[in-house]
Amino acid sequence: MRVVETLAEARARQSGQGRVGLVPTMGFFHEGHLSLMEQSRAECDLTVVTIYVNPLQFEDPSDLARYPANHRRDLDLAEELGVDLVVAPTPDEMFARPPLTKVSVAGLEDRLEGEYRPGHISGVATVVVKLLAALRPDRAYFGRKDAQQLVMVERVVQDLSLPVRVVGCRLVRENQGLALSSRNVLLQEQRAAALSLSRGLMSAADKFDQGERRAAVLEAEVRREVAGEALEYVRLCEASTLTPVNSLDGEGYLPAAARFGSVRIIDNIYLESSEPGAVADRGLRLDHPSLLYSDSEIGSHVPSS
Ligand code: AMP
Repeated sequence: MRVVETLAEARARQSGQGRVGLVPTMGFFHEGHLSLMEQSRAECDLTVVTIYVNPLQFEDPSDLARYPANHRRDLDLAEELGVDLVVAPTPDEMFARPPLTKVSVAGLEDRLEGEYRPGHISGVATVVVKLLAALRPDRAYFGRKDAQQLVMVERVVQDLSLPVRVVGCRLVRENQGLALSSRNVLLQEQRAAALSLSRGLMSAADKFDQGERRAAVLEAEVRREVAGEALEYVRLCEASTLTPVNSLDGEGYLPAAARFGSVRIIDNIYLESSEPGAVADRGLRLDHPSLLYSDSEIGSHVPSS
């Protein structure tokens, strides 16, 4: 595995290597990240992982300052997984000058996450487009955990005819149900409370499986579990633009966000309601504690189904 700091060097190392899969990350790896790398490894000749904590997507400086990091551990995990190239650009390499250009995705950037984190979606879009332009991968892998990010990237790629195939990967959960996130290590005594979010979504998924399609009923399952002041939003949305709907017909998400102490958690379930016996996609669940909480290195960390 090669580790490089510049986009030009990464591009040079990719050329002539066949189909290139890109996994953009902010590091501090967990099984969610590893599942994206696995999927790229299975589908591509060369898997490239970027590690860059993108300041443009943090609207709160204290959130950026305490974002967890462990570069050595990330490199070990990537290597064990068979990643070919890690690109870890310095802040100066990414933006020698503060960018004047921002990628804006009308509508999509204002709702849900955009309501609570102004500038976040545009900050992600700007850096993702920059990485795609500089590295020119054939495929780019994103997790459904960040549903709005995935929907946004799919739309940007279509709107701008970027020559890449966006691959959405299933959400991976901890064994107790919490959606895996690097920020979960910051939860501490709020952990038990934070489990209420996935619990609420799982009971909404049960209702969906029983045929329920109404937003009010599905959202109420989450409101019932999560203490009132913690929940920021839960909204049934159709899948292509994340427009809220009163009742789902076709493909959708039920995304939710909540704040437990100083840690903000997002989660969702993916819903495809076209078929009569449709069941909610609750994601994959680990059957052991996440590697986030151990010093041990990778073993059987990637869930298989
Ligand atoms: P991050 O490092 O948090 O920016 O995430 C990098 C990529 O990993 C994004 O495409 C995320 O959607 C994806 N990801 C993060 N957490 C999960 C998870 N629990 N399951 C699946 N994908 C995830």
